[in-house]
Amino acid sequence: MTFRENANISTGRARRGGGGGGGMAVGGGIGALLLALVIMLLGGDPGQVLGGGQQQQDPSSAQNVELSECQSGEDANEDVDCRMKGGMASLEQYWSEVYPKAPAPTAILFQGSVSTQCGNATSQVGPFYCPVDQQIYLDTSFFEQLKSQLGAQGGSLGELYVLGHEYGHHIQRYTGALNASQQDPRGPESGAVRVELQADCFAGAWVGNAATGENPLLEEPTQDEIRSALSAAAAVGDDSIQERMQGQVQPHTWSHGSSEQRMGWFMKGYESGDANQCDVLNANSVDDY
Ligand SMILES: [Zn+2]
Repeated sequence: MTFRENANISTGRARRGGGGGGGMAVGGGIGALLLALVIMLLGGDPGQVLGGGQQQQDPSSAQNVELSECQSGEDANEDVDCRMKGGMASLEQYWSEVYPKAPAPTAILFQGSVSTQCGNATSQVGPFYCPVDQQIYLDTSFFEQLKSQLGAQGGSLGELYVLGHEYGHHIQRYTGALNASQQDPRGPESGAVRVELQADCFAGAWVGNAATGENPLLEEPTQDEIRSALSAAAAVGDDSIQERMQGQVQPHTWSHGSSEQRMGWFMKGYESGDANQCDVLNANSVDDY
C-alpha cells in the first residue's frame, strides 16, 4: 500500500529508541504480573522472552527520537521508519472516528532491546503491545525475519498490517476484549486466539478505509498489495510457525489462530470496511469469518 506523495504524515505518533516511558518504574511484585499482560504478535511465553533484555540506548537513535525527518507520504514510501509513522497517522485518523473513546497510542521503534512498563524486551519477541504504557513496540528488522524465516512475501502492506494489528490491541484495551486473552490463553477456540483474530480483522477494517474519507493518507491498495498483507498474516499463523519451528502442529497450544483464520478475519475486516463485523469474541466458532 502506498502513501499519497503529498500526504502529511507529520502528526503520526511514532518515535525511535528505548525509553519506553519510565521503564521499570513499576514495583517488583507487580512487575511479574505485568509481564503476562504483554500482547505479542507471535506465540510463545512472554515470561521466557521478556525480562532478560539489557537495555542499550543507541546514542545515535536518541538524537532523532521524534522521527522529524518523516513529513510526507513520499518519505513514508521510501523509508520503513517513516512508513511506521505514516501508518500511525492513518490509523489514528481511522480509529479516532470509529472508536474515539481510545486515545491514540504511540509506536516505539527500537533496535535490539527496549524497556517498557510491561518489562524489558528484546527483538526476539517480535512486535508487541504493552497495555500498561499503551505503546506499540516494534523493531523494524522483524520485517526481514517475516520474509526470511517465516515465509511472508514482503511488501509495505504486509508491514502496515503488523502495525494495524498492534493498534487493534490498543483498541481492545479500551473495549475490554484484551481480558479474554488473559482468562483463556491457549487452544484453538481460546479467548487469546479470538483476541488475535479480532486484531487482524481490525487491521483489515483500517486498510479498507485508509484510502477513503476526506483526507486519506494512502492510495487504494492493489491486489498485489493485499496479497502482501495476506502473506504476512499467514506467516504469523500458529500452524505455520509450529510447522517451521517444531515440525508439528499442536492446536491445543495455539494463542493466535491458524494462517487460514488470520487471513480470513483480515479479509472480513477489509471487505466489509466495518470494525463492527469483527466480533470474533462472540462468534460461535473462530472459523465463522
Ligand atoms: Zn497480536
